[in-house]
Amino acid sequence: MNSLEDKNFNNTYSRLSECFYTRLNPTPLENPKLVAYSSSAGQLLNLEDSAENRETLTQICSGNTAWPGSEPLAMIYSGHQFGSYNPQLGDGRGLLLGELVNAEGEKWDLHLKGGGQTPYSRFGDGRAVLRSCIREFLASEALHHLGIPTTRALCVVTSDTPVYREKTEAGSTLLRLARSHIRFGHFEYFFYTKRYEALKELADYTIEQNFHDLEGMKVLSGSDQGYQRFYSEVIRRTATLIAQWQASGFAHGVMNTDNMSIIGDTFDYGPYGFIDDFNWHYICNHSDHSGRYAFSQQPEIGYWNLGRLGQALTPLFEDGELIQTALDQYPQLYSETYTRLMLDKLGLVEEEEEDTDLIRDLLQLLHDSRCDYTLFFRTLCNFPSDHASQRLHQLVNHPSLAAWLDRYSQRIKRDLTGNEDRQRRMKRVNPKFILRNYLAQQAIELAEQGNYQEVENLMTVLGAPFDEHPDFEHYAAEPPEWGKKLEVSCSS
Ligand code: AMP
Ligand code: MG
Ligand code: MG
Repeated sequence: MNSLEDKNFNNTYSRLSECFYTRLNPTPLENPKLVAYSSSAGQLLNLEDSAENRETLTQICSGNTAWPGSEPLAMIYSGHQFGSYNPQLGDGRGLLLGELVNAEGEKWDLHLKGGGQTPYSRFGDGRAVLRSCIREFLASEALHHLGIPTTRALCVVTSDTPVYREKTEAGSTLLRLARSHIRFGHFEYFFYTKRYEALKELADYTIEQNFHDLEGMKVLSGSDQGYQRFYSEVIRRTATLIAQWQASGFAHGVMNTDNMSIIGDTFDYGPYGFIDDFNWHYICNHSDHSGRYAFSQQPEIGYWNLGRLGQALTPLFEDGELIQTALDQYPQLYSETYTRLMLDKLGLVEEEEEDTDLIRDLLQLLHDSRCDYTLFFRTLCNFPSDHASQRLHQLVNHPSLAAWLDRYSQRIKRDLTGNEDRQRRMKRVNPKFILRNYLAQQAIELAEQGNYQEVENLMTVLGAPFDEHPDFEHYAAEPPEWGKKLEVSCSS
């Protein structure tokens, strides 16, 4: 069955103790219009992409109709923002509409962002604007299809309801899908308010919902070893996620602990950025004045955030040492994953001792020459052809390139796979298309005028970023100078 009414909800979160949330319905938006819809995200819910379903969704996402079976609520949480603890957070403009179970038995949270004020809105209006919804929508598509764990986005709806930022903008919503919406900050909230029973309830719930299939978990549940197993898995997933961001040149703009997903998804897209010209010190969030979340800092911040989570979990443990033992694994988990991903990008199968030097020297070269990260690796896929060499010299205008290519050339000869095989493998991990900031910006400006074609075009290329798209070749080009200087800042 394909209509929205026929879906099965199982709202487990709303069965938790009442201290976890406030029940409330979205505040309606006027005259809603559907801007974008992801049919691949819809398939996760077995949702047929029909005109009727699109219309019903538009009404649901604008808060004008309730999804039958949903039980909307705002979650409470806290978190460390830019290093300082903020005890007062929560879904200030989001509502967990409900948890839908698909035909495979998978539970998907439906979360409406921009649905109006909640008890956790503080000074905010509870709204989201079109540009931030489109940015989150496109980035979740982009990362998902690059193979990076992320929340998904089903659709974006805009409206005639005015929302005031620096100018008047259109109130809009995004319907987000995730296997869990629990953040590190949920655990921090119950730790800092010293509600240890609720903390245990939350941990046991999270394990049951999202970590039950870990080896040995059933036997260990409720014990120190069980909680350590859970924490270790969060560490492993977070380390892997950040290694994937780093290898693909993605920077999360606000790695506050309330924006860290307990299941290791890329979560809460704000002023993120995909690096164009490579620069270790790239800061994608214009409001991040100290560079706390600069590109090069993100692996270290992941470790710090996991430390905050570990601290919040201490009341669950009799032996607190187990927390530190688990956390100590992070640096190695991170660096092994990152090295493996970079070797894949270079097309190298067996790791050799000097490979980490080869990677480090390349990144230094890309940094010193401010070379376009994505174009470099995609062009390297065609090495050692004369054409690729020429193009690499154009991209990396630096005297050390020739020596590096020489080393690389020797190195690939020792990997016993042929050029063709290596090139094919490299093209499956080095995307041709990424969501460049200026491309998102162009799509947003048109959408703000009611033209959604550019959003649609970007979905096409980002939905298959490793493939050729002859009609959209220009999206793969180096950005124009103006496009490299765009600034994006916090919540909107
Ligand atoms: P963010 O910077 O988006 O991660 O949000 C940090 C906190 O501010 C969260 O509790 C959000 O729910 C809240 N927040 C962000 N924007 C708004 C808004 N426009 N209205 C109400 N709360 C908001
Ligand atoms: Mg947030
Ligand atoms: Mg350049």
